[in-house]
Amino acid sequence: MKATITMIGTGDAFAQNYANNNAVIHADGFRLLVDCGYTAPTALQRLGMPFSDLDAVLISHTHSDHVGGLEELALEIMHTYQRKLVLYLPNTLRDPLWEKLNSELAQEPLPSLDDYFTVKLIPVDEPTGIAPGLIVEPVQTEHIDNRLSYSFIINERFFYSADMRFNPKLLHQLVNDRGIQLIFHDCQLSSPGTVHASLDELLTLPESIQTMTKLMHYGDTMPDFIGQTSRMTFLEQGIAYEF
Ligand SMILES: [Zn+2]
Ligand SMILES: [Zn+2]
Repeated sequence: MKATITMIGTGDAFAQNYANNNAVIHADGFRLLVDCGYTAPTALQRLGMPFSDLDAVLISHTHSDHVGGLEELALEIMHTYQRKLVLYLPNTLRDPLWEKLNSELAQEPLPSLDDYFTVKLIPVDEPTGIAPGLIVEPVQTEHIDNRLSYSFIINERFFYSADMRFNPKLLHQLVNDRGIQLIFHDCQLSSPGTVHASLDELLTLPESIQTMTKLMHYGDTMPDFIGQTSRMTFLEQGIAYEF
């Protein structure tokens, strides 16, 4: 069965013209928010996606453009709908996330993560069925030193990088050994790529991989780069892509 993913934002952490790089996956009636940055609540509203429609949220790592809107979303859902948001986390992210929410965000300090969310830890490097027609496998990838960060293999055919440095070996393996057919990859437009893959690095991928690669997590100068991405294309906010 086909599922869809809609980017509610495609911007990097500093973009003004694009919301944070977060997405909603829609599979067989189930809606999963992938990352919830500080712009996510507004971006969801703008796209006409009420918070109450979300069944769960999945987090890749603890940067603010991926978790900065979590507390607002959780509190809103608690106060308005009297329920806790279901939170899927790679199992190693539980403590770092709580540290982040508790120290920087807490508008209403609560004793634990479980007071905000129904927490569901998922194993790394193992596929977990989240809903009928939705299987998620977290893969640890390099992003920032000393901070855990995960990419996701979704339904065994779609690779969502979230935030990662260029890793051509992994991309080749995913395509050749794991049968990945679609890649959403973060893309830093200027070089050198430091904590993200740069466009120049991604352009070194073979055509066969570029053809299945779509670019996200870009800066405000993205329009200047249209036509300079070879076989790769930029993802757009608010459009549902099938996978
Ligand atoms: Zn990041
Ligand atoms: Zn980011």
